[in-house]
Amino acid sequence: MATDRVMVITGGSRGIGASTALLAAKAGYRVVVNYASNAQAAEDIVGQIEALGSKAIAVKGDVASEADIIALFEAADSFGQLSALINNAGVILHPMPVVDMTAERIEKSFRINVLGSYLCAREAIKRMARSRGGAGGAIINLTSAAAKLGSPKENVDYAGTKGAIDTFTVGLAKEVAMEGIRVCAVRPGIIDTEIHASGGQPDRLQRVVPTLTMQRAGTAEEVAKAIMWLASDDAAYSTGAILDVSGGRAILP
Ligand code: NAP
Repeated sequence: MATDRVMVITGGSRGIGASTALLAAKAGYRVVVNYASNAQAAEDIVGQIEALGSKAIAVKGDVASEADIIALFEAADSFGQLSALINNAGVILHPMPVVDMTAERIEKSFRINVLGSYLCAREAIKRMARSRGGAGGAIINLTSAAAKLGSPKENVDYAGTKGAIDTFTVGLAKEVAMEGIRVCAVRPGIIDTEIHASGGQPDRLQRVVPTLTMQRAGTAEEVAKAIMWLASDDAAYSTGAILDVSGGRAILP
């Protein structure tokens, strides 16, 4: 049980991040719950964790902002030794074909989903790397089945950000393996969270579920369990691994 170790979860206030925060608290981590704007949701999760007798703090910060990321990790420093980073914050923007996308829209997708994950990983490595006095740790990225499907006519920008996360996971895993840091990713399929409504498709689950292999969406907790396993010592020999939690969607034949 990891009773004195700190886990930073970007976007830990809702959806997959919130489920991960609760499981992490039960596993004994001190949890840093990052969020962008919905303070109430973040405080609710912190309250649930404290009710379990565990420790958590909510830290507002936009992962598209380098300054916010630096402040997030400084807040985590006051909480204890960083042991795990869950690069979970991510957005899907309103569906449209690439021909209609503005540069600002594409940049927004990449700043939040890609740049944010790179910079959070950089800050985590500074604290975890053995050559810098750290004790090692785990970085778990959230990719998507969209990286394989490409999401044509809807979210090719989003799919591209997740393709970048796949490659980032493999490259960074090799780069920091000898620093005692493992880097893995979870690749969800269609999961029942608010991200679809936020991305302008409130009816997405109803529309897509009949086409899914298991004829149902996944739950945030099903994804969170995979994240927690990859972050745990039980996955000590897994690095650069990308685990599909997609109910059979977009798996290779
Ligand atoms: P969600 O329910 O929409 O929750 C998003 C979380 O990220 C919230 O805590 C939100 O904070 C935070 N967030 C959003 N933008 C942020 C920013 N710029 N900086 C910091 N935090 C930010 O999302 P989810 O469905 O759980 O998705 C989590 C991850 O899984 C994402 O990377 C997503 O791409 C990936 N994923 C999801 C699915 C799916 O079907 N749900 C499938 C594949 C992959 P606020 O509450 O303050 O807005």
